[in-house]
Amino acid sequence: MDTYTYRLGNKIYVNLTNRCSNDCEFCVRRTDAFRDIGLWLEHEPSAEEVINSFEDLDSAEEIVFCGYGEPMYRLDVMCEVADYLKSKGKRTRVNTNGQAALICGEGVPEKLGGRIDTVNVSLNAADAKAYQALCHSEFGEKAFYALLDFAKECKKYVPRVVLSIVDVAGESELEKARAIADALGVELRIRTYVK
Ligand code: SF4
Repeated sequence: MDTYTYRLGNKIYVNLTNRCSNDCEFCVRRTDAFRDIGLWLEHEPSAEEVINSFEDLDSAEEIVFCGYGEPMYRLDVMCEVADYLKSKGKRTRVNTNGQAALICGEGVPEKLGGRIDTVNVSLNAADAKAYQALCHSEFGEKAFYALLDFAKECKKYVPRVVLSIVDVAGESELEKARAIADALGVELRIRTYVK
């Protein structure tokens, strides 16, 4: 049975697709860890199927489009669900690899305006070469530059834009990541790596 939405604490997570343009070394998609609980989808849901799967939406503090894969592959469905959530006064976030322009074309940040409150872009590395070595984007090293452009552009339309990197990157990489975030004028979130 596919799992389109699930709850962790006071947040609800939305799983729209298995697809991703990356194949990150640390990705759970490389394991069978979540197949048993249905996160590996047999069928990509429609907006209606996602909306019908929400349970106890009233008590949720934030709804996060994260996926087992990359939510931007389902941009139209995500926007439709976000419109529904906004009509209910809910706070929304998308966790993304930031390659939206390469996946869906230009103009995605504008579409997120009024629908998404926080965009969290996984930076993962401090330069294009290191990013590609870790994330293996099908778009090659230009994926890294695309994600920086995406974060910068999102600032015009979305209230909160965050770059994230895991703490195992090493202090010099974290320092470079801080400089990137400062230059873009966005937050940097350093996440604890969980294996
Ligand atoms: S970007 Fe996310 S979903 Fe895609 S391969 Fe990397 S960790 Fe997995």
